[in-house]
Amino acid sequence: MKTKKIIIASNNQGKVREIKNYFEPFNISISSQRELNIKSIPETGKSFLSNALLKANHLFSYAHLPVIADDSGLVVEALNGEPGIYSARFAGEEATDEENVNLLIEKMQDKTNRTAHFHCSLVYVSENYINNPIIVESKWRGVISNKKVGNYGFGYDPVFFLPNFNKTAAELSSKEKNKISHRGQAMELLINKLQSNKLI
Ligand code: IMP
Repeated sequence: MKTKKIIIASNNQGKVREIKNYFEPFNISISSQRELNIKSIPETGKSFLSNALLKANHLFSYAHLPVIADDSGLVVEALNGEPGIYSARFAGEEATDEENVNLLIEKMQDKTNRTAHFHCSLVYVSENYINNPIIVESKWRGVISNKKVGNYGFGYDPVFFLPNFNKTAAELSSKEKNKISHRGQAMELLINKLQSNKLI
């Protein structure tokens, strides 16, 4: 039986699935906010990090268990950093991944600079870390393609093209993606920090 518990502050099933995978090798039971029936807080922060801290502190105040919160999104150079912290709601509050991706393709139609990166801020908060959260951040660079390719992943993966792989992120298996993605790199940093602080 897994003894330690960590709660993930996200309702995005794609992300929760990814984060659960990273903890597979450890004696940790991972639950999502949804599984605990705790409502999310509006993401009113002005940066990825402030949103991640907001989500972590909110969930900790209800769950009183160790929490990992992530805030991530796509930053496109030619769009002055859009969609950025608004990645999930680029095409509107209730927008689907497909609507967001279609809007991005449209906005990028006449752009020659296709450079973009995914950003991930991850924070860990627990009883002993409430005033001193563990923070890690990472970037994953790629270019925006003009059509959707691939069926894996979620969000903007079908238009996030990786020149080194000659594939979009949606053509990578979850194992391949987890090794190199913004969240994968940030998770690796976080797991190292949790291990060196004897938290896992
Ligand atoms: P959050 O849940 O507020 O952090 O929103 C993150 C949004 O950024 C997601 O809904 C996606 O649109 C986008 N995003 C973040 N990470 C990824 C990824 O790994 N692949 C594709 N889209 C992502």
